[in-house]
Amino acid sequence: MTTSHAPVAVIGGGPIGLITALGLVAHGVPTVVFEADAELSTDTKAGTVLTRTLEVLDRYGAVEPVLEASLRIDEIGELDRATGQSTGSVLTSALIEETRFPFVINIPQHELEPVLADELERRAPGTLRLRHRLEDFTEHAGGVTLHLSTPDGPVTLEASRVAADLDHAIWALDQPSVDGLNSYWISKLAAEAGFKVALSGQGGDELFGGYPSLAWFGRFTAVARWARPLPATLFGRVLDRPALPFRWRKLSYLIGADDPFVASQMAVKILFLDRDVAGLLSPALGQNGHHAEAERHLSHWSRLVEQEDLLERLAFMDIHTHLEPRLLRDLDAMSMAHSIEVRPVFLDHRLVEFLLPVPSGIRIQQKRLLLDAAKSFLPRNLLEDLETRRKRTFTFPFKRWITRDLHRTMQEAFSQRRLGSQQVLEFGAVDDLWRRYVRSEPSVGWSRIWSLFVLQRWCEIMQVSP
Ligand SMILES: Cc1cc2nc3c(=O)[nH]c(=O)nc-3n(C[C@H](O)[C@H](O)[C@H](O)COP(=O)(O)OP(=O)(O)OC[C@H]3O[C@@H](n4cnc5c(N)ncnc54)[C@H](O)[C@@H]3O)c2cc1C
Repeated sequence: MTTSHAPVAVIGGGPIGLITALGLVAHGVPTVVFEADAELSTDTKAGTVLTRTLEVLDRYGAVEPVLEASLRIDEIGELDRATGQSTGSVLTSALIEETRFPFVINIPQHELEPVLADELERRAPGTLRLRHRLEDFTEHAGGVTLHLSTPDGPVTLEASRVAADLDHAIWALDQPSVDGLNSYWISKLAAEAGFKVALSGQGGDELFGGYPSLAWFGRFTAVARWARPLPATLFGRVLDRPALPFRWRKLSYLIGADDPFVASQMAVKILFLDRDVAGLLSPALGQNGHHAEAERHLSHWSRLVEQEDLLERLAFMDIHTHLEPRLLRDLDAMSMAHSIEVRPVFLDHRLVEFLLPVPSGIRIQQKRLLLDAAKSFLPRNLLEDLETRRKRTFTFPFKRWITRDLHRTMQEAFSQRRLGSQQVLEFGAVDDLWRRYVRSEPSVGWSRIWSLFVLQRWCEIMQVSP
């Protein structure tokens, strides 16, 4: 006999499922009962419980509450329907030598099931899960994987709810991060559905190089290498003109750069150029507005993997300059705000230690390896769906929210009065960017506006000013 920590799953919380679960629990076997319906049976259905079933209940230590709730019958007779006369009967006491229960009981099914469920709950709380329908299952060597539809199904998140909770989310961020709102809401909805622990896929893209932006880093590094001898001041100035779309202006980083690799990181990751930062921050903070520190930070990590190939270096940078300081930190703060424990399963140290030494040519941009590994325990339809599905990012419709649902909130936050009293951001520069965003979103990009809004609200909520 093999032992396992996984519970035995009983499908269906009818009389048979509940009695089976009582038996398993009586033998100390961890058990869970999944019942599709939202409640136990409401129909009378089966009404009589015979001797042998009472013996089974007795073996499982559950006969007493059932007997208490039922009507004992010691004589079973027959009536002639036409005349209403008895045509004979048997006394169940005839079974006295056979059983401890020489009688039958009468209890309608909709009364029996709650008695059994209460007894189960008393002995093993939480065993019965209503509104859990088994959709499919897969057998594998270690057990069975069940695929259940649960009460929660798809959840629609209204923008008005996001607006109402925005201050709490920004407060919970603990630092003015541009990320984290999606983790805040997933954690909140999970907590509302009664969950305490959630699994997260964070780290998968960093380990397997799943980000499409990887290609850009490669191209930008090549451009920066080519543009290295060009004079940064002259060509940089040509590109860094406020009227140009930001994605063009960022390319000024690639010209005359000391380190083409670090320059490509800057060009992909930054939200504001030095000149913007100097203008956006209030005079009291203006002298902090340059990227030297960010560049130093990226150079530090980049130097550690100087000898590796490009893919390996990119994965390393993603892990140490994006995943660790930003994604994981934000996820931790946001999930803790709702008392949800999140486990990023791909970052299990055994998996990471196993994967990182695998050469980048095999590992990177090979999330297919994950599918292959999961083949034996994923149902075929899910596997087919995952195989054909394009990468889906989990991004909120910020563009729509900013121009519609959150427009007034943001407009007020960017008002001269509010910015003036906080003295962190400069009204003129913020207002200019905000107006340009409202006129034509693509020229500014939602993440730049959102980052300024979070910074302003965070400073207000935390009462931070220079
Ligand atoms: C209208 C009617 C009248 C009856 N009258 C009598 C009678 O008078 N006397 C008598 O002895 N018997 C009667 N029966 C029969 C009796 O109800 C059944 O024998 C008894 O319910 C069987 O118990 P069970 O636990 O095996 O199945 P059920 O009671 O049917 O329980 C099965 C449970 O599994 C759940 N389930 C099904 N699929 C899934 C899934 N995919 N995932 C999760 N949960 C799932 C269902 O919602 C259900 O609650 C009657 C039945 C009916 C329908």
